[in-house]
Amino acid sequence: MTEMLIQKISVVIPVFNEQESLPELLRRTDAACQRCELDYEIVLVDDGSQDDSGEMIAAAANQPGSHVVAILLNRNYGQHSAIMAGFSHVSGDLIVTLDADLQNPPEEIPQLVAAAQQGYDVVGTVRQNRQDSWFRRRASRTINLLIQRVTGKAMGDYGCMLRAYRRHIIDAMLNCHERSTFIPVLANTFARRTIELPVTHAEREFGESKYSFMRLINLMYDLITCLTTTPLRMLSVLGSLIALTGFAFSITLILLRLFFGSAWAGDGIFMLFAVLFIFIGAQFIGMGLLGEYIGRIYNDVRARPRYFIQRVIYPQSGASAQDSES
Ligand code: UDP
Ligand code: MG
Repeated sequence: MTEMLIQKISVVIPVFNEQESLPELLRRTDAACQRCELDYEIVLVDDGSQDDSGEMIAAAANQPGSHVVAILLNRNYGQHSAIMAGFSHVSGDLIVTLDADLQNPPEEIPQLVAAAQQGYDVVGTVRQNRQDSWFRRRASRTINLLIQRVTGKAMGDYGCMLRAYRRHIIDAMLNCHERSTFIPVLANTFARRTIELPVTHAEREFGESKYSFMRLINLMYDLITCLTTTPLRMLSVLGSLIALTGFAFSITLILLRLFFGSAWAGDGIFMLFAVLFIFIGAQFIGMGLLGEYIGRIYNDVRARPRYFIQRVIYPQSGASAQDSES
């Protein structure tokens, strides 16, 4: 594996009503970045906060010698959309994402940078000693299990946003046109080499989690649909199975009625069931077919790049020789 040269780090942080955490966040992130001894920028995305977060971010960017880039969204679009907005304005060649609530210690950034320098495209993290409620932990575990089953990729902790991505992964993600995204999963679909590091996880000091039960459910749907159209395929497989069973059952009922007479078949009631099963079976097949088409439409609509070229190396001989990196 070849080591990679990193010249500039961009730290992208989505901020939604985090005015209490911001001063400490800025101080600690700045200190951590300085320890990396590379050029850096801190991209703060205000996701339509109702408190003073927006003004504080703008003020931080306006200070002389500041490394802060402020991006203010006009309203609340959600954590992942805010991060994507940040991605569209980064200039570094390694991009680190981080939560604003200080649950991910910024002090871990140098560790992520060091891992990326070894040549990894995506550096993930696994939270040791997670400081979240039992319910929150259970929800995450279910999600993680689902992902592993669907993708076959074992990634321990998709919920942790403390991650580092190389520039070309970000470019590939920006070329995906779906509206709802789940960034860690999306990044993994474009990554060749990934690694996971254990990181510490702190308790939320100020405010409370921005994810209510309903938002968690929404996030889970985003994640599954971002990942795969397998649920739609399952619908057609399951539908066909149910239809087949229904047909077989109705044929059995008809045959038994012919052999044992109408008294056995409840004087026509069983026949009614037989007809019903046939119709239900036909409906399931219809739904499965619709699912197949919707899956294809979905794949076309989100128009993910079919491939993503990381580097083209032209032959060195001749005057027009070029080596372009995308
Ligand atoms: N966040 C955001 N927009 C939202 C919700 C959250 O930008 O609509 C940010 C929030 O400010 C924080 C990060 O996303 O920086 C994670 O949010 P939170 O800590 O509430 O989530 P949890 O830790 O409970 O998963
Ligand atoms: Mg949090």
